[in-house]
Amino acid sequence: MPKKGRVFSGARPTGRQHLGNYLGAIKNYVALQADYECVYCIVDLHALTTIEDTENLKQNTNEMALDWLAAGIRPDESIMFVQSHVPEVTELHTILSMVTPLGKLTELPTFKEKIRQQPDNVNYGLVGYPVLMTADIVLYKSNLVPVGIDQAPHLEFAREIVRSFNYRYRTHVLIEPQIKMTEVPKVLGIDGKEKMSKSLNNHIELAATPEETRKRVLEMFTDPARVKRTDPGNPDICNVFTMHKVFSPQADVDMVNVECRRAGISCVECKTLYATNLNQHLGPFRAKRAELAAMPGTVEEVLDDGAQRARKIARKTMEEVRAAVGLP
Ligand code: SF4
Repeated sequence: MPKKGRVFSGARPTGRQHLGNYLGAIKNYVALQADYECVYCIVDLHALTTIEDTENLKQNTNEMALDWLAAGIRPDESIMFVQSHVPEVTELHTILSMVTPLGKLTELPTFKEKIRQQPDNVNYGLVGYPVLMTADIVLYKSNLVPVGIDQAPHLEFAREIVRSFNYRYRTHVLIEPQIKMTEVPKVLGIDGKEKMSKSLNNHIELAATPEETRKRVLEMFTDPARVKRTDPGNPDICNVFTMHKVFSPQADVDMVNVECRRAGISCVECKTLYATNLNQHLGPFRAKRAELAAMPGTVEEVLDDGAQRARKIARKTMEEVRAAVGLP
């Protein structure tokens, strides 16, 4: 069946992925493959804007790629590659930077937030981040970018950059990407307060063993009003129940919904049930991951092949871009 368009999405190489990454991005990446030609990029250059120690960059890239593959990214259909393996992106970034007003970049809330987060490392790359992001998208002639509501302004900015380029050089070589609005669920960490994140150590890794997973689940924060086993709870405010709704069969969800409210089930029992269901859900993923990991060089091969296919598109785009700009 013909595909509806070309989707681009990128993610930083953060190593082994967790449930938040899975529900917030990977699951959607896998689903999009049915209808779209997908280009999925591990954006290692973007990572350099915030990390100074690159010792684990390669390993984190490979671990993440392994998770993507085990979760169902099909490398024979989708292009999966590492950003820096297609150096054309840096050339396009430079060219696009000439049509991007500096004032707009420094006024972006995300840039201001970064200054707050890393006042000792306010580098040029941070300012140019949205320009590099635009280069990522348009280099591969992607017409759709899946984003959550909070990311939509970034894509709007990318569209502005494309319009500026096409207007200045009287061309149509760059495609203005459309927003594919995607529901990105906010997945809370085991602390029940903050978004799940590795840096906060409130995460559950997809590739954790069943026993590690069970331990992490047992640490999950629940309804604070349930002090004693006999206190009734409120599943509506409990993150364990939220996760039951994602990973447990409906019968278990219904049972917890009733029994929690009348103290018919303890939190330990409830969490154990969730851990069992979660482990069952992740079983095929873990088996596939172990299979891939047992074949050394597989991930590298996939990424090499992806880079070659991505580069083929990139080279053609850059020929058109150079001609449009009038570079000698
Ligand atoms: S029984 Fe389950 S849903 Fe209810 S408070 Fe405890 S962990 Fe949360």
